[in-house]
Amino acid sequence: MTELNTRLGMLESHLARFRETGILNLINGKTLPALSGETFETCSPVDESLIARVAMSNAGDIDAAAKAAKAAFAGWAATDGDKRKAILHKIADGIVKRADEIAMCECWDTGQAWRFMSKAALRGAENFRFFADMAPSARDGKSLPSPNHMNITSRSPIGPVGVITPWNTPFMLSTWKIAPALAAGCTVVHKPAEFSPLSARILAEIAHEAGLPDGVWNLVNGHGETAGKALTEHPDIKAISFVGESRTGSMIMKQGADTLKRVHFELGGKNPVVVFEDADIERALDAVIFMIYSLNGERCTSSSRLLIQESIAGEFHNRLAERVRNIKVGHPLDNATEVGPLIHKTHFDKVMSYVEIGRQDGAVLAEGGTRVGDKGWFIRPTLFTGASSSMRIAQEEVFGPFLTSITFRNEDEALAIANDVQYGLTGYLWTNDVTRALRFSNALEAGMIWVNSENVRHLPTPFGGVKASGIGRDGGDWSFEFYMEQKNIAFAMGNHKIQRLGV
Ligand code: NAD
Repeated sequence: MTELNTRLGMLESHLARFRETGILNLINGKTLPALSGETFETCSPVDESLIARVAMSNAGDIDAAAKAAKAAFAGWAATDGDKRKAILHKIADGIVKRADEIAMCECWDTGQAWRFMSKAALRGAENFRFFADMAPSARDGKSLPSPNHMNITSRSPIGPVGVITPWNTPFMLSTWKIAPALAAGCTVVHKPAEFSPLSARILAEIAHEAGLPDGVWNLVNGHGETAGKALTEHPDIKAISFVGESRTGSMIMKQGADTLKRVHFELGGKNPVVVFEDADIERALDAVIFMIYSLNGERCTSSSRLLIQESIAGEFHNRLAERVRNIKVGHPLDNATEVGPLIHKTHFDKVMSYVEIGRQDGAVLAEGGTRVGDKGWFIRPTLFTGASSSMRIAQEEVFGPFLTSITFRNEDEALAIANDVQYGLTGYLWTNDVTRALRFSNALEAGMIWVNSENVRHLPTPFGGVKASGIGRDGGDWSFEFYMEQKNIAFAMGNHKIQRLGV
């Protein structure tokens, strides 16, 4: 409790300036309110109190930011790779220095527990360091000789890009998107989610203080339908890197069509964790719980569908229910808290509505499904058993601490159920039969699969989904593929015969 009070005291001092000035934009190196002077409120999901008022930007503000990004592009693109590397490392240093402030603000703004956010802030710094080190070689190409030509490929940054992020772990995700863009030599206009603007502002300040030239990184707050839409339609913005819901991805594709936007989408998921009877049950149980109840279940890669072999289902469900019952729901800044409040009322209502939907569809509510307290958006971690694949709780992304369990008899049935959704982001597989693991992973429709493991992100590997879960990949060189254009130059190596017309 003392620790919680100390943290609350520190949080208050971090928030004081935002209460006074509001959360403003950063355009061309200048801190600015929205052109209209309008603002909206951001409130804490912990107690619904006002955190600060936020600049409510629209197309005019986006236009100013896009023009600044366009003007800064030539200079930043021409900046030596080593210099870009040094600045990105300085940003990482700034993140480390302010990691506690970032984590506290993130907990208060999003409801995520301290135990996860304190690490997420530091992972944000690691994202910058990883791409900083890749900056000097970002443009490296290939030499692809053909019989008469020496083909030389090179890469160059695509131009000013738009980055649109969601409210779940917004800090970490923003660093993941913005760091490779800057390392590639692109300039950025970032539109963070309206429900979690705090850490995006801190991040932009850190970048500014690290010596990033004006206009290279612009922050514009606002709603998706106005500011977000304007960003996707702006002719000076060459590509949109978007993380959010699948239906928003569809809208962005339409909005960006007239200006032929390149898009990278990281969208929703309804990821299966498949547990076979030959698995290491202790480890599988830990991983099943961790992958749906950590981060409040507000995680695109959460294993929201448990597929459990019928022969072990009874015992597994009993042990699972007991552990879920013991999960500590509480104040996100408390060390003991494992699950905090959901981001906001609309989302809380959505998650709660699935409790009724699950019951009506005939699944068994084995745990949770109730509100905790009468202030803030806390919900008891929820477990439905006895579900079938056609039920809505087995098909739709709930995006909360909400697990749907379905039993299967054999491998074929498990695979059919696992693939029977519109999404295909991740899959988790628990078996000690290596041949089955290979066979199953090969047939599973997902962009990323972990075998006998929880989700552990390794930055050089490709991250992204198939089907309605996304288009494109992040990580390592895949990030540069998106943020850069390829150019091929073919040099004739001799006097090869050219077809002669009109002679
Ligand atoms: P959302 O789609 O509602 O909003 C995401 C962002 O898009 C916000 O900044 C919002 O303002 C903006 N936006 C909304 N409408 C827009 C429009 N018409 N044009 C341009 N921008 C617009 O998503 P959310 O509720 O904030 O986030 C949760 C979703 O994100 C979940 O579906 C989750 O699975 C997904 N997600 C996916 C990944 C991944 O890597 N695949 C990672 C994190 C979150």
